[in-house]
Amino acid sequence: MKAKVNSDTCIGCNLCADNCPDVFKMDGDLAVVIVDVVPSNAEDTAREAAQNCPVEAITIEE
Ligand code: SF4
Repeated sequence: MKAKVNSDTCIGCNLCADNCPDVFKMDGDLAVVIVDVVPSNAEDTAREAAQNCPVEAITIEE
């Protein structure tokens, strides 16, 4: 599974980095994905981060 952040959409709210730090971190005002492949033990929280992103900036590829 892979995750992507759309840098044009992200508003830098920190939510994904706070809730799923194994996959997302803040880089200045934007979230970035820090792994090529989401670790299996972080898949659920990565999906939740995508669902909870207020601007739907996170895309998950299963
Ligand atoms: S939850 Fe969405 S808007 Fe907030 S930092 Fe993450 S990608 Fe950006």
